[in-house]
Amino acid sequence: MLQLRPNCECCNKDLPPESEEAMMCSFECTFCRSCATGVLAGKCPNCGGELVSRPRRPAGKLLKYPASTERVYKPQGCKTAA
Ligand SMILES: [Zn+2]
Ligand SMILES: [Zn+2]
Repeated sequence: MLQLRPNCECCNKDLPPESEEAMMCSFECTFCRSCATGVLAGKCPNCGGELVSRPRRPAGKLLKYPASTERVYKPQGCKTAA
């Protein structure tokens, strides 16, 4: 199951599971759209993989398969990518 992380690793912006702004890589590193397309230029600073729009999980499924609440925040990775 895909981990739906609650925030952007770069700027710590909240990214709820229904957000259309969330982008992620294949390792589930999660970023907001402005960081992903701006400072990161579409590339994950942790693994070098591409960042794509995170699919939204239907609300009914979130009850049984809730989004992750564990925040990952690594602003230092975002500086090196710039
Ligand atoms: Zn961000
Ligand atoms: Zn990554």
